[in-house]
Amino acid sequence: FLPHLIASMEQVEETYVMVKPDGVQRGLVGEVISRFEKKGFKLTALKLFQCPKELAEEHYKDLKSKSFFPKLINYITSGPVVCMAWEGVGAVASARKLIGATNPLQAEPGTIRGDLAVQMGRNVVHGSDSPENGKREIGWTYKMTQDTSIVEVPCRLRTQRH
Ligand code: GDP
Ligand code: MG
Repeated sequence: FLPHLIASMEQVEETYVMVKPDGVQRGLVGEVISRFEKKGFKLTALKLFQCPKELAEEHYKDLKSKSFFPKLINYITSGPVVCMAWEGVGAVASARKLIGATNPLQAEPGTIRGDLAVQMGRNVVHGSDSPENGKREIGWTYKMTQDTSIVEVPCRLRTQRH
């Protein structure tokens, strides 16, 4: 009764999850999606996307003063990312738990970063840190073509043929 009551107090919300370029390159897209599906969240949007520098800087603007900021922007724009919106009760906090600590060496086994990564600058996946940021981040990548100056370029990976 009590856990049910607590769960029903949680909000159905949407969170933004992004497989970063290292995760895409290493073939971990399916693994990441699978963990969110198995948890029970609903995939409401998904796309392969090459993040423009301007959007990367906006996305990580809170970290602008950090010494690693230029490296972070290079990393996140270095290749295609997979952008997703996941919906569910308490989705924002739960996604952060599934993802694990920012530093993969401190992330618990069983989390995505704890199981699949070792470097802070190659930590496979992003997840929104609040419902408000979830909305904003989903907005940037899914509704940005009309109301911002950022032009979206469709992303299609091509296999090189000789
Ligand atoms: P997150 O919400 O867990 O992704 O962590 P933050 O919002 O604090 O940082 C955003 C991203 O910046 C992290 O996921 C890392 O990829 C990167 N980052 C954060 N701190 C460091 C750091 O100290 N060094 C490096 N190289 N990257 C960092
Ligand atoms: Mg963050």
